[in-house]
Amino acid sequence: MDPFDLTGKTAVVTGSSKGIGRSIAEQLAQRGAQVVISSRKEGACAEVAEAIRKTGGKAIPIPCHVGRREDIKALVAETHKQFGLIDVLVCNAATNPYYGPLLAAGDDVYHKTIDTNVQGTLWFCAEVVPDMKARGGGAIILVSSVGSLKASNNLGLYAISKAAMNQIARSLAGELGPLNIRVNAILPGLIKTDFARALWEDPERARRVTEGFPLRRMGEPDDIGPAAVFLASAAGKYMTGQTLIIDGGGVITN
Ligand code: NAP
Repeated sequence: MDPFDLTGKTAVVTGSSKGIGRSIAEQLAQRGAQVVISSRKEGACAEVAEAIRKTGGKAIPIPCHVGRREDIKALVAETHKQFGLIDVLVCNAATNPYYGPLLAAGDDVYHKTIDTNVQGTLWFCAEVVPDMKARGGGAIILVSSVGSLKASNNLGLYAISKAAMNQIARSLAGELGPLNIRVNAILPGLIKTDFARALWEDPERARRVTEGFPLRRMGEPDDIGPAAVFLASAAGKYMTGQTLIIDGGGVITN
């Protein structure tokens, strides 16, 4: 049996209309999972779902703002109607509305960051765990960041939210392990997506950032997607509560 096979599994990937989430959704679908494509924009999700179906995969679009619990509940209900119970949850959507010193961050950006990245993650897990319980197991994957491990002059607030996600992975792994529900986090380094555009758009800045990386380049979304297949499938069946760093070696060198 192929340990990476996901045939018969239903996966929800938040923020999968583009970037890392899209790659994760495409890779899960390629391994046989039926995938819910989700972001705030229905049209963008419909395009990705259609592209996956064209290559023989199973995918449907369901829009959802991860900072709104009623949206999450509606997504889960619609998934039940179209695909059945959920086996794999990938909490990938995140926001980063503030760039600046931590102590100067206003309450508004604090709440936006924490509500979306931390509260939204907890809400999603709470809505989906009953499905996994009923199925006799499941996999939750939280897309965190190497920023959660480092000091940062301007991304400190975002880093707090990502560090919280690492701890959510550990805490839930402990609580849910007896139910055969595994919870892990992926910590990407610098990946070429719209989210990190400011960090790579200027070629000189990008060169400075990546020249110290052992692999001497920034990542692409497809450097992350396959890792989610590992964590979602039987290939990763003895791994839980971990933070998997995928960053071209950046954290070991600078
Ligand atoms: P991206 O290309 O900008 O994609 C972000 C996705 O999330 C889009 O589908 C976006 O679609 C959706 N989204 C944003 N806010 C949302 C919300 N409130 N509710 C639902 N969906 C929302 O970004 P990315 O780089 O792939 O980032 C994905 C994850 O990787 C994030 O958690 C980010 O923190 C993490 N990460 C990225 C990097 C990097 O260098 N790129 C590094 C470390 C970690 P809509 O706009 O349509 O909602």
